[in-house]
Amino acid sequence: MRKNFLYLVILLFSPFIVLSQQPKKLNASEIYESIKKLNFLGSVLYVAAHPDDENTRLISYLSNETKAQTAYLSLTRGDGGQNLIGPEIRELLGVIRTQELLAARKIDGGQQFFTRANDFGYSKNPEETLAIWNKNEVLSDVVLAIRKFKPDIIINRFDHRSPRSTHGHHTSSAMLSVEAFDCSNDKSVFPEQLKQTGLWQPQRQFFNTSWWFYGSQEKFDKADKTNLLSIDTGVYFPSKGLSNSEIAALSRSSHKSQGFGSTGSRGEAVEYLELIKGDLPKDKSNIFYGIDTSWHRVKGGDAIGQVLSKVETDFDFTNPSASIPSLITAYKLIQNLDDNHWKPIKSEEIKTIIAACAGLYLEAVSDTDHATNNSRVAVAIEMINRSHVNIIFTGLKLTDGTKSEDYKPIPLSNNKNQTFNETIIISKNQEPTTPYWLTKKGTLGMYKVTDKNLIGLPETPITYKAQFQLNIENTPIEFTRPIVYKTNDPVKGEVYKPFVIIPEASAKIPENVIIFNTDKGKEIPVIIKAGRDQVEGFVSMAHPRDWNVYPDKQIISIAHKDEEQTIVFTIIPPIDQSEGLITPMVHIADSIYTKELIEINYDHIPFQMVLLPSESKVVKLNIQKRGQNIAYIEGAGDVVPESLRQIGYNVATIAPKDIDEETLNKFDAVVMGIRAYNSVEDLKYKQPILFDFVKKGGNMIVQYNTNSKLQVDDLAPFDLKLSRDRVTDENAEVHFLNPEHPVLNYPNKITEKDFEGWTQERGLYFPNEWSADFTPILSMNDKDETPKEGSLLVAKYGKGYFIYTGLSFFREFPAGVAGAYRLFTNMLSIGKGDIKLEAKLND
Ligand SMILES: [Zn+2]
Repeated sequence: MRKNFLYLVILLFSPFIVLSQQPKKLNASEIYESIKKLNFLGSVLYVAAHPDDENTRLISYLSNETKAQTAYLSLTRGDGGQNLIGPEIRELLGVIRTQELLAARKIDGGQQFFTRANDFGYSKNPEETLAIWNKNEVLSDVVLAIRKFKPDIIINRFDHRSPRSTHGHHTSSAMLSVEAFDCSNDKSVFPEQLKQTGLWQPQRQFFNTSWWFYGSQEKFDKADKTNLLSIDTGVYFPSKGLSNSEIAALSRSSHKSQGFGSTGSRGEAVEYLELIKGDLPKDKSNIFYGIDTSWHRVKGGDAIGQVLSKVETDFDFTNPSASIPSLITAYKLIQNLDDNHWKPIKSEEIKTIIAACAGLYLEAVSDTDHATNNSRVAVAIEMINRSHVNIIFTGLKLTDGTKSEDYKPIPLSNNKNQTFNETIIISKNQEPTTPYWLTKKGTLGMYKVTDKNLIGLPETPITYKAQFQLNIENTPIEFTRPIVYKTNDPVKGEVYKPFVIIPEASAKIPENVIIFNTDKGKEIPVIIKAGRDQVEGFVSMAHPRDWNVYPDKQIISIAHKDEEQTIVFTIIPPIDQSEGLITPMVHIADSIYTKELIEINYDHIPFQMVLLPSESKVVKLNIQKRGQNIAYIEGAGDVVPESLRQIGYNVATIAPKDIDEETLNKFDAVVMGIRAYNSVEDLKYKQPILFDFVKKGGNMIVQYNTNSKLQVDDLAPFDLKLSRDRVTDENAEVHFLNPEHPVLNYPNKITEKDFEGWTQERGLYFPNEWSADFTPILSMNDKDETPKEGSLLVAKYGKGYFIYTGLSFFREFPAGVAGAYRLFTNMLSIGKGDIKLEAKLND
């Protein structure tokens, strides 16, 4: 059990879990800073809800100046946000944001943990959040993080006492952190965790406050600060040539999917910490005041502290290898410690320092970045010592464990490269590499993780590793390196990729949602990708019972690894409205593969392979429509054009500069993309032309904009004021204010059923004031709130219709929500009758 526990601790803290694009090679200044960190035994856990909530300035300060073990526990992976750099949303966005947090921590020196909570979208208050998350499971994960990481100090980003003042996830993160502080040391709480780790009582808990939480700088200046610590985090690091705020800005700029590029600053930068639990430090600039953070805190640690403090004072920046004999002495003393928390942490740190002092480079590079079960992979080994220290290579262990031959000892003499080749065999039972939290179907609020040892980890631990056994100054020390793949890119140079295991075959249907608006079948391509050479078998298609698929099965034969074969199935919908899932099943020998392999490839994070169930939603809609040609003007990005094409509209995307009378005349309706008036400055010159188009008989649909940073004064031809009103409960009851209104009746009769099965929310930023020219159509509200009537406003303007809607069509369309399509079709069709565009006739 003990061995298992140690393994877990190493898993949590091993730098190798972070798949770096390039291995870190410490220079003399960095080695020196690492030695100082080796001599600090204290830790801080920062707690918040999302990637980007964390205060990188404070994390960098604590890690680089205080030298504390500093970790950020983000309750979620930020799956619910929007992606500014690519098409990935939901789970895949969570994978990107996980890696962005890891990239940020590589810069600011922190570590990264998570809970199983899923970022399900905006939540107004903690009661709702904790009802959708499984409160007990999330609390359990926070307690587990505390028991494993053993922080002396916990810092909450948010205030646990002010529900409804911010996102419900935020307040919940602070509430759970406060509750966990009180129960992590109680053995009756989550007792099953004690098989993995021990109890722990943190000493102090703070709330990382600022003027923002007081409403204004003025109010904050006047506030009572007796319980507040203030820390100037604006320190300058000569060894890095950077201020702490500059490092923090680099770290924050890792959040590229959120567009959080940040510019560094220099000079004083005060952070305020309000004491929530524990005793107030006498020195109000030192959160660790009164806490022993020296080697003395570990039984038998004094001797190590003495050796290492001399290493720190004697460090020779021109010859770091001179420190190695003393470091080896300290390493041996650490191995003798009877301690299972600091021992593995400090062993890893000192090994990294010893290797860096010796200029020791160890690498295991596979000849491919991916392989399947039962395959053989060549691994090139490189070892070099760049010092006069006596180092002998005595053996190598590779993860497959099949090594039988013994190695002859090889002396690693100064600056002489040693290389040789090995082979690993991928076992036939090896699971494919994929983010561990996505392997099982979870709930709206929680990821499902069956292996308890993985809970909290930022990513799936690397399976294939090389363990180098060395004798350094006659002391055996083992160094572990992940097996990695590297290649030379003509533009980027040396590019590292993780080595991963993939299935023999994967299948992909290009469209996630396929809408059928007639009884005719559609030909649906399925792309099969081979994970190895000579993949032969057949593919069938699982489908809902009332749908038909032809043919039953199709033979596939793919000669080469990574090659694709496209086959086409005909999917035939039933007569009635219906929906369900289709899943390609790839049969190869006795195995059936039903997953899609998704690659996530960006320069700022390591390459990611993600396996998700390959499935597409098929929807048979009974839908009538009027009007045919739609102009779409892009905003912040949505899939409205593709969605409307699926139901048979001709949709053309018009650039703002091309909006003129002649162009618009070709269209029956104009649809504005989400947040178009927030993100497209040029639109301020185009409003008169667009309104004129409506006047002449065109329809104009404006989707949601936020009420800050609007580029135009006149959002509509009539008065309209946006508010922050939103309805986040996707099942909130919808009342028809004007049941006879054409938009609810023509050409499709809209009923309550059309508001079933919505996803994430009803809508956001509804107007709360509008001119009498608008007719409000729907009323809805979240629990305990007043009815909101601004979600869909329709106004006749001249011969056409202007419609403003905060309903979240941009979320419902990609989810294939039938009612959303039917309602939107009515919005496009209103006033169109059976005759052709009135605008054209009246021109
Ligand atoms: Zn947040």
